[in-house]
Amino acid sequence: MADVHQLKPTRSADAQKAWAAAALVPDPEVPCVNVAELGILRDVQMIDGKAVAYVTPTYTGCPAVLAIELAIEVALREAGFDPKIERVVSPPWTTDWISDEGREKLRAYGIAPPVDGSNSKLALFGETIVACPKCGSTDTEKLSEFGSTACKAHYRCTSCSEPFDYFKCI
Ligand SMILES: [Zn+2]
Repeated sequence: MADVHQLKPTRSADAQKAWAAAALVPDPEVPCVNVAELGILRDVQMIDGKAVAYVTPTYTGCPAVLAIELAIEVALREAGFDPKIERVVSPPWTTDWISDEGREKLRAYGIAPPVDGSNSKLALFGETIVACPKCGSTDTEKLSEFGSTACKAHYRCTSCSEPFDYFKCI
């Protein structure tokens, strides 16, 4: 287990290339965003000739983690690298790590991006105001705690009746 704080702040040219290859891997659940935009891929460094990808799972119960790690490994190998995956569990992933671009893509895809900074238990239990990704109305209702995957809750907009998934804050 690696500590993300020990990672080198800069990347060599090779590491930069490896990062670019790994960062293209889409999230298996939300293919419109990639692992870098989601903040799951923390870093890629060249260590002893291996391209080491540091991956932080969104949360431990998420079955997509293994698929993501495998996809990153394949992407690095296809780019000509000898890949190694290091799972980084500290600090834990939060939805705050999703980049602005990632949030925009989620919204465009019809998934309400997580509310900024709501890294709390309250948010997990749906006590948040969720804006409709289609019309922006905050007049929304939660239909079920679990949407298309366990990481998302299912909502419906009462203004435009658009159903949508909300990426739960964890
Ligand atoms: Zn709406």
